[in-house]
Amino acid sequence: MNHLLMPQPSYPLNLLGTQRLAQPAWRGSGKGPHATCPTSRPLQQLAYFIALCILFALPLDAHADWHRQQAAIMGTAIDVELWHADTEQARSLTQSVLDEMHRIDNLMSTYKPDSELSFINANAAEGPVTVSTELLSLIIRALDYSVITAGAFDITYASAGQYYDYRNGIKPSDRQLQQALPAINYRHVKIDPKTSTIEFMRQGVRIDLGGIAKGYAVDRSMEILRNAGVENAIVSAGGDSRVIGKRRDRPWNVGIRHPRNRDSIVSMIPLENSAISTSGDYERYFEEGGVRYHHIINPGTGKSTHEVHSSSIIGAVATDTDALSTSVFVLGVAEGLQLINSLPDTEAVIIDSQGRMHYSAGLAQVQ
Ligand code: ADP
Ligand code: MG
Repeated sequence: MNHLLMPQPSYPLNLLGTQRLAQPAWRGSGKGPHATCPTSRPLQQLAYFIALCILFALPLDAHADWHRQQAAIMGTAIDVELWHADTEQARSLTQSVLDEMHRIDNLMSTYKPDSELSFINANAAEGPVTVSTELLSLIIRALDYSVITAGAFDITYASAGQYYDYRNGIKPSDRQLQQALPAINYRHVKIDPKTSTIEFMRQGVRIDLGGIAKGYAVDRSMEILRNAGVENAIVSAGGDSRVIGKRRDRPWNVGIRHPRNRDSIVSMIPLENSAISTSGDYERYFEEGGVRYHHIINPGTGKSTHEVHSSSIIGAVATDTDALSTSVFVLGVAEGLQLINSLPDTEAVIIDSQGRMHYSAGLAQVQ
């Protein structure tokens, strides 16, 4: 689901100062704008200087600003917002982020037949397939999550998951499901880091990184921004967001949606230098015979789980919060909270199927 960003008032003073000082118009004087505005001169001169300050300040303010761009990539809504003193730089950085999202999509999408992931799915059951270190590393991280969630997070869910088409209301037949179920098991995926290869130890195994790739793309994007010196920014890919610094003088605020009312927010989470991911049963689904078939699958059954409506995880980086939001959704309230409470600097907000909210230990204290 998309996170909602809430509007915030007024710039922080230090940012305003930075944007004026950064402008070339003031550099010629050898002094900053505040230094050139006199305090002990005749009134006329003062008025002149104030006018001059405004003259320069107006166009400067129009350039040094928050920059926001939205796009649709990886089948989801991308939202990038950052503060930068230079409009051109901001534009080019935003473009770099969108390019990175496209690059990752081209590498990891199961919808693109020529992606590296599709090549693995088509060939890894026949023997070891050589994989880029980047993709291999993310697969290894996903397999680690299978271990710590006792298989609730399992990228081989796709062995059955490939038969769902939520847009067209299609689900696997009982026969398809029966055949696919034995192929769902992360232990069927063999990795050899030395040769950088992956192999499926059984026919019918498919993998899909939909539960972790968007978080990874958000983290990569944030690295691009941070390496370029950006200090205040948010990058969102659907339900995965990461922030650095602040928005104006306050923490970023990310809203958790009501799972049955799109326009309503159930909780606002203030964030600084952290990530939040939400998995919900309301973004991709169809209903049949009173049952909601949605995109989060219990690897044990090959079917959607129904104990919770949404799970939101707050942590340091989006790759982890993304994998964990999917994991906790599958684990349910009790086991999900147990897992989150065992992890350092990680919190959860879960909305169960009765609409009740549950908080991890660190958040329960501040409720
Ligand atoms: P989204 O942001 O697309 O809603 P989520 O983080 O909520 O994604 O994860 C849902 C996606 O994770 C599904 O679309 C699917 O690709 C993948 N997925 C579904 N079930 C599992 C599972 N048990 N383990 C790992 N990945 C899963
Ligand atoms: Mg996820």
